[in-house]
Amino acid sequence: MSEPRDGADHRVRILGFWGTPENRALPDPADLVDAAWDESERHWVADYLDHGQVAGSWMGVSRCRLCALPNGYRDLTDGSFLWPEGLAHYVRDHGVRLPAEFVDHMEQRLRALDELETDGSWWLRNAART
Ligand SMILES: [Zn+2]
Repeated sequence: MSEPRDGADHRVRILGFWGTPENRALPDPADLVDAAWDESERHWVADYLDHGQVAGSWMGVSRCRLCALPNGYRDLTDGSFLWPEGLAHYVRDHGVRLPAEFVDHMEQRLRALDELETDGSWWLRNAART
């Protein structure tokens, strides 16, 4: 794969994928539980995770590594990060804390959406052509 022209890394970063007993290269969610994590921030992060775009689906349902509940079968993305849809459950119900860099990314993205300016001219020009 060639380097992007601007030198930036445009690959989507993954988070929330866990190791298995056979493959311990990925983290164990139990190691990331932070029972003291502020509940309102936890729910805010989980809500963000719930609203990713579907990037792919799997044949089998994943089970939560901490409570064994069925926990999704799709991958979601915001265009910068990609996570399994069950990650919100880990955050909301088990207090699995995500890296501060991801939370900062979420804040910046949501702030940018709040500050969007709208332009109605495209719609006015193109709606009549359909
Ligand atoms: Zn669980």
